[in-house]
Amino acid sequence: MELKPENIIVNPGEFVSLDDYTPEYTGTYQKKGQTTKRLKKLHKQLLELQGLLYAESQHALLIILQGMDTCGKDGTIRRVMGGINVQGCDVVSFKVPTADELSRDFLWRAHKVVPSKGKIGIFNRSHYEDVLVVRVHNLVPEPVWSQRYQQINDFERMLVENGTVVLKFFLHISKDEQKARLESRINDPTKHWKVEASDIRERAYWEDYMRAYEVVLQRCSTDWAPWYVIPANKKWYRNLVITECIVDRLKKLNMKYPEPAIDITKFYPIR
Ligand code: ADP
Repeated sequence: MELKPENIIVNPGEFVSLDDYTPEYTGTYQKKGQTTKRLKKLHKQLLELQGLLYAESQHALLIILQGMDTCGKDGTIRRVMGGINVQGCDVVSFKVPTADELSRDFLWRAHKVVPSKGKIGIFNRSHYEDVLVVRVHNLVPEPVWSQRYQQINDFERMLVENGTVVLKFFLHISKDEQKARLESRINDPTKHWKVEASDIRERAYWEDYMRAYEVVLQRCSTDWAPWYVIPANKKWYRNLVITECIVDRLKKLNMKYPEPAIDITKFYPIR
């Protein structure tokens, strides 16, 4: 598989078996240093594209990050978005819903924090939890969660039709890699704060989560809001691929700086 964003998009309606995707995959690269130059170039492009997004203010960009615990959502936000203008970017983390959130429809809390035009919004977890953790643990009855795939597709279509670009990344790590990451947290006192009982508890449901993710990828990768499966065992490769996908998608918007509202030539020379 060549490193091309279109190669890791899940085709709408395509049967997905995560066993067919290799979390360890690093394309034509063998080690971190080999991607540094490319990543630097992409970061520069991303910063320029963000400037255009803001100047034009015709589109918003919504990036959704999902994956198992330790899959690297936080690291992705730090490394991929580290180089952009923080004023134009909001990160929202989706936690266990509050009583207020539970008293509304499940998309309410997502809709009220989508990015405005000109901005980038990153969802660290998202409304997809409502068909992942909720499905795995039967937190609502099946007739309720089973309707949600279509409701999510409709919601995202509405966002896209109103100028939001929606990109969804599943950070695919292997169960062994998660074990190694959890162990390294347990062995490093500076990382103890990151270890949560729920991480270990949820690990026992690994296979159930994989099946729930497969259904998400199959049912909710759409022409308007595709899912990308990111090989994420190697953090440096994960960062490269995600940045590549974002830059590629933003370039396709063919954004232009707006025409000046005034005749600029009248202001020269500046006295
Ligand atoms: P993270 O693991 O993303 O760094 P936390 O450790 O605070 O952050 O975990 C957030 C928790 O909230 C996760 O266990 C996640 O499954 C849970 N969660 C998020 N959305 C929902 C939801 N709609 N229903 C139930 N649990 C949810």
